Amino acid sequence: MTLMDTHCIVCGTRLTLHQRARGRSCDGWRCREQALGRALEAHRAEAAAALGIDRPADYALFVVPRSERPVVPLPAPRKRKFRAHLRRAAAAAARGEGEAVPAPEGPAEVAEGEGGSAPLPEAETRLLGRACAACRGTCCRHGREHAFLGGLRLARYLAAHPDETPEQAVAAYLAYLPEESFEDACVYQGARGCTLPRELRADLCNAYECAGLKSYRRHLAKHGPVPGCAVVREDNRIARSAFFDAGRLRRYEPAARPARRSRNG
Ligand code: SF4
Ligand code: SF4
Ligand SMILES: [Zn+2]
Repeated sequence: MTLMDTHCIVCGTRLTLHQRARGRSCDGWRCREQALGRALEAHRAEAAAALGIDRPADYALFVVPRSERPVVPLPAPRKRKFRAHLRRAAAAAARGEGEAVPAPEGPAEVAEGEGGSAPLPEAETRLLGRACAACRGTCCRHGREHAFLGGLRLARYLAAHPDETPEQAVAAYLAYLPEESFEDACVYQGARGCTLPRELRADLCNAYECAGLKSYRRHLAKHGPVPGCAVVREDNRIARSAFFDAGRLRRYEPAARPARRSRNG
């Protein structure tokens, strides 16, 4: 065991057993932030070497949460539950009572997403979408059998499609369900991302950005369309990462864990 293992790598304070188990820094927020930054950069360098990527520092680093679920056939009971929710929302919308079926609120981590950020140029906006693909849509696990759709969203759909009945509106939404989706996540979260067109999604879906995505957005706003390196973290540990640019997405997993099967590469 070296001094690096027993002392904070930033300020040199001796670490408690708990601190050592958690990482390599003391509890000071500056030390924790710096230690995290160093760990992320070290991971990016290691991953780039393994993937044969030159100039890893050109890839903007940001952290996204982890959600490992397999992709499975969408179970019939979940489809029925979603259809019942949509029917209630569409019927209320047709009666002019859209508020009677409110859109489900996201849990705290979703609700705190501010959305409403200033729009970026097209290339940067595309890269933001690539960032979510690299993360595999962790926040979408909360969409379950409602996809955050409520009566007011269905009312907007019916206003835009005046020839359609509420049942046709429900059918239009159901037509976008994938055959397979992430287990127990949003019914629309397919292996390659959300299968519902953006213009039909709930406002929350279009506006939400996790802390990692916001930091990448700030980077894009400042530096233009730079590629990204999304690092997936859970319980203070780096699980895997993905490098992406406008054309390619390359994934890296440090240790070959016996992962649960997922088909989105
Ligand atoms: S906003 Fe994008 S990057 Fe963040 S958790 Fe959701 S899908 Fe992942
Ligand atoms: S509708 Fe699409 S964007 Fe919204 S929670 Fe479901 S999968 Fe995610
Ligand atoms: Zn310290």
